[in-house]
Amino acid sequence: MPPRILIVEDNELNLKLLHDVLEAHGYVTIAAREGAAGVALAHDSHPDMILLDLQLPDISGYEAVRQLKDDPTTQAIPVVAVTAFAMVGDERKALAAGCDAYIAKPIVLREFLALVARFAGRPPQGTGQPDDC
Ligand code: MN
Repeated sequence: MPPRILIVEDNELNLKLLHDVLEAHGYVTIAAREGAAGVALAHDSHPDMILLDLQLPDISGYEAVRQLKDDPTTQAIPVVAVTAFAMVGDERKALAAGCDAYIAKPIVLREFLALVARFAGRPPQGTGQPDDC
């Protein structure tokens, strides 16, 4: 079974980009467009990793990760914050809220895939080089 990644992202273009890159590299993705829906989906489907946008339309990513890490059912799932707002202090704030790592948009593909592999593992049949798309 390939690793399953939950993407919590309200921007359709970013969601499609993350989805396309991950699926092209052999991962399976599921998605939520709001924070509360993301928390619920994580609880119900136990993904191997969560990519979490910090700016969401309902609860913030910070609040979402607090809920995930407070719940014994989801607290072991690695959460990587993804945000366009790479401002000073964001990384520290994301880590303080419970995120396991942080990646800033625009995403550098090679770094992104290395981070995903580190937390979610590699698909059993990787589709080639980390920079092939
Ligand atoms: Mn957003």
